[in-house]
Amino acid sequence: MEVSRISDIAYLSGVIDEESDFSSMLTPPFIQAIDFSAVSRVNSIGLRSWMLFMTKWGDKPLNYMNCTTEISDHLATIPALRGASKRVVSVLSAMIPYDCLKCDHMEDIMVKRAEVVPVTLPKVVSPKCRICSGEMELINPSIVSIFTA
Ligand SMILES: [Zn+2]
Repeated sequence: MEVSRISDIAYLSGVIDEESDFSSMLTPPFIQAIDFSAVSRVNSIGLRSWMLFMTKWGDKPLNYMNCTTEISDHLATIPALRGASKRVVSVLSAMIPYDCLKCDHMEDIMVKRAEVVPVTLPKVVSPKCRICSGEMELINPSIVSIFTA
């Protein structure tokens, strides 16, 4: 995993694994956000390093941007990735998997926090299919909780 920092955003890229070093994000001036768009994969040891990073990060607010579908899945199943003792992370945008009820087209769609909080917009619950204009549905409806719960 590479960490490149531009202003107060840390851009992660590559694989989050046993080689991943989160320490550069733990020194002041602190980052405001992490962008996950270029993360290709996360393994179990990488998840552990990420959780340890959250413990050290503490109670400071932090934003997650451009989460991949894999990252979204991990956020939905491992609350500690959004804060060790309490939730400090706001997920600003994440790829969410959908499938079309009519033609079975599957697509990952970028959902923004503003489309979900305070009220989940219909376009998040059932966007139009790009192929047939039919109604798409969330493959895992509970994943929307990464923006809220
Ligand atoms: Zn369709």
